[in-house]
Amino acid sequence: MIKKKSRDEIKHMRHAGHIVALVHKAMKENLHAGMSTKDLDDIAMDVIKSNRAIPTFLGYNGFPACICTSINENVVHGIPSKDEILQEGDIIAIDVGATYGGMVGDSAWSYAVGEISEEKQRLMRVTEESLFAGIKQMRAGNTLDDISKAIEAVAVREKMGIVRQYGGHGVGHTMHEEPFLYNYSVGNHTPIKAGYVIAIEPMLNLGGDDVEVLSNDWTVRTVDRKPSAHFEHTVLATDGEPELMTTIHEEFL
Ligand code: MG
Ligand code: MG
Repeated sequence: MIKKKSRDEIKHMRHAGHIVALVHKAMKENLHAGMSTKDLDDIAMDVIKSNRAIPTFLGYNGFPACICTSINENVVHGIPSKDEILQEGDIIAIDVGATYGGMVGDSAWSYAVGEISEEKQRLMRVTEESLFAGIKQMRAGNTLDDISKAIEAVAVREKMGIVRQYGGHGVGHTMHEEPFLYNYSVGNHTPIKAGYVIAIEPMLNLGGDDVEVLSNDWTVRTVDRKPSAHFEHTVLATDGEPELMTTIHEEFL
């Protein structure tokens, strides 16, 4: 069952989302060629701890870090490592969760390391566009399929692969709650109600749809080794415009 969030739950989710947005701000400001993905994880941990939040990912099903770092053909769930060094021309998807007041914020963003190719720029632009096309449909009276269809339409128009094994999800007291949200239409006509919170997160590929999990049991990679991008926001449905929870909120600064 999908549960509507109460006023108090929403307040804490905004705060958790704010902290997640602060982590992304720090990622953007500090990210450069020559640093390791472990360096990024250390920065994320500092931001989360200094804001008195809990890194949601750390220990989640045994995950050993507080962010996922997925470079180029890696799609999601990459594990930060001191041996993994960012190179000029890479793109990196960084996914982070923070828990505050018992509530979770979850957001991922793809970043360019220095100058990147035009095709990688297009991949990032289109994936972000598909996220916002999905977000626009997150309103009371629409259905989950309206979100899925909007994401799929952008990917199809731009001839991008759509990762099918992973998708968006309800979020709240835990990171993954009902419903599962596909990034392509499956005809799920479950109505969206004001008070629902869903993490919307398209993962698009420059090549085909297919992905595989590496032998570390975490990192997901495209089978054709073409680059992949990932953008995610935690979004609240209202009777009016959808509210992005994973942004910087002035009231918490
Ligand atoms: Mg995430
Ligand atoms: Mg998520």
